[in-house]
Amino acid sequence: MSDPQKTLVLIKPDAVRRGLIGEILRRYEAKGLCIEALELRTVEGDFADRHYAEHVGKGWYPELRSFITSGPLVALVLSGERAVEAVRAVNGATDGVAATPGSIRGDLCASKQHNVVHASDSPESATREVALWFPGV
Ligand code: ADP
Ligand code: MG
Repeated sequence: MSDPQKTLVLIKPDAVRRGLIGEILRRYEAKGLCIEALELRTVEGDFADRHYAEHVGKGWYPELRSFITSGPLVALVLSGERAVEAVRAVNGATDGVAATPGSIRGDLCASKQHNVVHASDSPESATREVALWFPGV
């Protein structure tokens, strides 16, 4: 059997400030995903630019950059069967207002930017993001 797929998740600074770390981790564990790595971390702007390389240059990127560097976040690697897809489903749509109730964003936020979680959007992004945040995992 091949190794389970890995994906990179961030519990963003808004969620950490709101005391939602436990609530969010509970949902990933309940889904059956396995925690491979987990760290509370505060990142600098240049690291944010590497993580969000695809978005640097967009009109709203400066706000996202200042948000993601605004305080501690929790970075984690989750693994499991089709973990990239599973985590995106648990997270819900980007815009918390439109996200389906029952998803993390649908239940816990009402903002397109302060949307409590990040997850890799493809196996290729997952490989790149896991290597960036957790070299060696
Ligand atoms: P996702 O996090 O669902 O993969 P994107 O990759 O499109 O979404 O965007 C990355 C992050 O940038 C979003 O999670 C959100 O925090 C922020 N963002 C996306 N679109 C906007 C927007 N139109 N205005 C402000 N912030 C945005
Ligand atoms: Mg994305």
